Amino acid sequence: MNKLRVLFATSEAYPLIKTGGLGDVCYSLPNALRQLDVDVRLLLPGYSAVLERLSLVEVHDSINIYPLLEPIRLLVGIMPGEITPVYVIDCPTLYQRDGGPYQDITGKDWEDNAVRFGVLSKVAALFGEHHFLFKPQIVHCNDWQTAIAPMWLALSNRPYAKTIMSVHNMAYQGLFGPKTVEQIGLPPESFNMFGLEFYGKVSFLKAGIYYANQVTTVSPNYAKDIQTQAYGCGLDTLLKERQKQLTGIINGIDLEVWNPEKDTYLNRNYNTINLSAKVRNTQVLRTQLNLEASKKMPLIGMVTRLTEQKGIDLIIPIIPMLIKAGVQIAILGSGDKTLEMHLQRLAALYPKQMNVTIGYDEKLSHQIEAGANIFLMPSKFEPCGLNQMYSMSYGTIPIVRHTGGLADTVIDATPENIKNELATGFVFERANSNELLYCVQRAVKMFSNKPVWKQLQITGMTRDFSWQKSAKQYVSLYHHSINTI
Ligand code: ADP
Repeated sequence: MNKLRVLFATSEAYPLIKTGGLGDVCYSLPNALRQLDVDVRLLLPGYSAVLERLSLVEVHDSINIYPLLEPIRLLVGIMPGEITPVYVIDCPTLYQRDGGPYQDITGKDWEDNAVRFGVLSKVAALFGEHHFLFKPQIVHCNDWQTAIAPMWLALSNRPYAKTIMSVHNMAYQGLFGPKTVEQIGLPPESFNMFGLEFYGKVSFLKAGIYYANQVTTVSPNYAKDIQTQAYGCGLDTLLKERQKQLTGIINGIDLEVWNPEKDTYLNRNYNTINLSAKVRNTQVLRTQLNLEASKKMPLIGMVTRLTEQKGIDLIIPIIPMLIKAGVQIAILGSGDKTLEMHLQRLAALYPKQMNVTIGYDEKLSHQIEAGANIFLMPSKFEPCGLNQMYSMSYGTIPIVRHTGGLADTVIDATPENIKNELATGFVFERANSNELLYCVQRAVKMFSNKPVWKQLQITGMTRDFSWQKSAKQYVSLYHHSINTI
């Protein structure tokens, strides 16, 4: 039988380039799909980091996309340590720069992001029109950076592939001025409220949601949330109209990369049988971060983009109270400069109990997951969230707000859930500092009840967060799209 052919278009994929959860998903979901015998191949921009890390890069094709742009080359390589082919758009003027995939080193968005990701979307659509040797039946688009592809294919008279638009975060829509229409080569009449236009601007994500054959988001709860005004970021009405084609599929985690039994970044590996070995990771983390050695204090960890979304502003006012209550806090993150500054100031006030590392550090992120006792994710909204699942599988108890994927994955330690051995963490409802404080106090109190704590750890560690079930749901959706006219 012929394999199902899928092009997975994305602006980031671990280990080539990653800024957040999208990078993790675009590595682990394609791997899970390959295990289900899907011929899935990635399409990525040729950032310097990608070209450096990709093995066996060959020139595949040379194409002229826009008259004003240099011809681009399509390269093909293999994902490090994997067999997934990766197509890379080689266009040095667009992608080879110092800085991140979306922003320069000062944190400012690249001015030509519309063109940079317009080109990514266009090449994805060319695959969908079967211009190249690999002829996908599905073009699977991820977030706004690839969201013009479904529109190109809907406008094309050779739309061979069906399109899936996966929304990993509604808050990032790719909004640009109306000149973008011409810059990225779209017909002027396409700039209207049925598709591309959003209050006078071009919205990449709106176009993707409007034109894709199917729309997915990364948890069932977030699929409901985004159809409401509170979470829809202005696109709730459109999402409601597309309700029949909208599916929430929960993300999984990659157990090859995130597994306390074989994580090479850890001082000691552990599992449910030798859970006491986790303590060694806590001790080493404390030393590494210059925190006071203590057996009694729970260590609370956070690894996050420092943005409003993640509820950092809820934590800042209660840190002095938490410190007084005898907890330690280790935060790794980067983002908003004001939040970075506030956190660093607090860490300087309480050096024995609080450490803040500003930056991006893959190794430290694993060490915090393993070394912390509690993991904090008080997000205002959370499409899925991966860190709470990493935490549960590392025996690190998450504290989360009841929203999006956090509500789908963490079961609150109520007396009843504890009795039924279902509880895996602590959940609070409203996004305010008081509720968060109360929830942390609840967790800290429970920390001294060793048997119950261990039960929470084991329940989380034995939950199945693998991709298997979700990858099967994507395969069904691919078949459904192919079979629907
Ligand atoms: P989001 O995609 O909204 O940032 P997720 O919880 O879905 O949030 O995924 C975040 C991913 O990015 C996790 O793998 C997390 O460990 C990683 N991450 C976030 N910030 C950092 C950082 N400063 N250093 C290392 N990894 C980070």
